[in-house]
Amino acid sequence: MRRPAPRRIVVVGASLAGLRAAEALRAQGFTGTLTIVGAEPHLPYDRPPLSKQVLTAQPGPPGTALPLPAALDARWLLGRPAVSLDPTARTVALADGTLLPYDGLVLATGSAARGAPAALAGPPRGVLTLRGLDDALALRAALVPGRRLTVVGAGFLGGEVAAAARQRGLHVTLVEAAAQPLERTLGPAAGAYVGALHRAAGIDLRTRTTVTGFRAGANGHVTGVELATGDTVRADAVLLALGAAPATGWLADSGTAVDGGVHCDPYLRALRPDGSVVDGVVAAGDVARVPQPLAGGGRLALGHWTNAVEQGAAAAATLLAPGTPAPFTAVPSFWSDLHGARIRSVGLPAVADEARIVEHDLAGRRLEVAYHREGRLVGALTINRTARLAAYRTALREDGEPAQQPAPAA
Ligand SMILES: Cc1cc2nc3c(=O)[nH]c(=O)nc-3n(C[C@H](O)[C@H](O)[C@H](O)COP(=O)(O)OP(=O)(O)OC[C@H]3O[C@@H](n4cnc5c(N)ncnc54)[C@H](O)[C@@H]3O)c2cc1C
Repeated sequence: MRRPAPRRIVVVGASLAGLRAAEALRAQGFTGTLTIVGAEPHLPYDRPPLSKQVLTAQPGPPGTALPLPAALDARWLLGRPAVSLDPTARTVALADGTLLPYDGLVLATGSAARGAPAALAGPPRGVLTLRGLDDALALRAALVPGRRLTVVGAGFLGGEVAAAARQRGLHVTLVEAAAQPLERTLGPAAGAYVGALHRAAGIDLRTRTTVTGFRAGANGHVTGVELATGDTVRADAVLLALGAAPATGWLADSGTAVDGGVHCDPYLRALRPDGSVVDGVVAAGDVARVPQPLAGGGRLALGHWTNAVEQGAAAAATLLAPGTPAPFTAVPSFWSDLHGARIRSVGLPAVADEARIVEHDLAGRRLEVAYHREGRLVGALTINRTARLAAYRTALREDGEPAQQPAPAA
């Protein structure tokens, strides 16, 4: 039996994936009521600049608003977080008591920054995290030239903030538990390369250590960070860059499988713990945990801008015609800008069991690494070699057959 077309669609999460889903719904002919719910008071804005230009641009931060199509015709409910979902009654409840009935629902609530670990609970003032625009503006205000910033966690976000602070003329210490920055994601060689970029920029990179405590002045503001090595690093501000967790707390009683993100089938339909589909509910972006062909079909939630864009559109297509569109198999891609170096990746380097260095030139600031899993190409990373990525992307797209590594550049 053909299901009637949805008349009321609710999108929870007023950011990149939610907006792209809303745009795609209209572009694909949805003429019913479209409601977009956001926890933040802001209309959708872009997050990548928050750890880059928003921290460095002078005299003031650039605008980050995402363009809104005139024909979106959506009802915006901003500053009103969703607090629960009843998939049987097909309603979403908001914190202010509003109950929103839906025929179709898009879950696009992204991720939230991980705060201080339990052992460091109740950190002093001046210990910050970064996920949203307001966080970025608070961090920017703390980046006073000549002051001291400690960044805890040398992943992409921590590395970018450390680089931005250095560019602003701060003394920067970057603390990392692993032997190299980004080691878990990119492997030790690429991690060491990124570590060398940080050190060349004058960042005091401390690896293989963790933060065990904070020091604070009489005014309750942070003055230092204690490390497991026994050292204390002086700090006027601290950024905790310890990763992000999918924002699924509000779905806890919904009967949806949400550990590590909303579990989805290849069509981005939300699943119950028994693997059955939650009718009329799709997920997209950082919150969605989706089967990844490059990870042998294992479900992963990706914190990538392009992923949010592509899944937003794909989730909309599924809502309008469940099961009809092709399964979501886009090759993931990611970028980062660090000390003027263009870092780009395709595929899933993090699932590799082998990293093959194709080019390693620290003086020339160029790096190319091909990532394999059980002998099969699963990803690639370049630094200042962006043109090389197209060939890897093509190889990764090849479905079914083991992909070949592109020939090295002449
Ligand atoms: C500082 C920073 C820099 C980044 N840089 C890069 C980069 O260089 N390259 C790259 O590829 N990616 C980057 N990313 C990642 C990229 O921005 C994300 O992948 C993208 O924003 C994901 O979009 P999303 O819509 O899924 O989630 P989000 O952008 O996180 O949006 C989710 C929205 O849902 C809202 N929400 C949460 N819970 C609720 C609720 N219960 N009710 C209603 N609304 C709710 C949130 O407030 C938020 O507005 C960066 C991210 C950050 C934070």
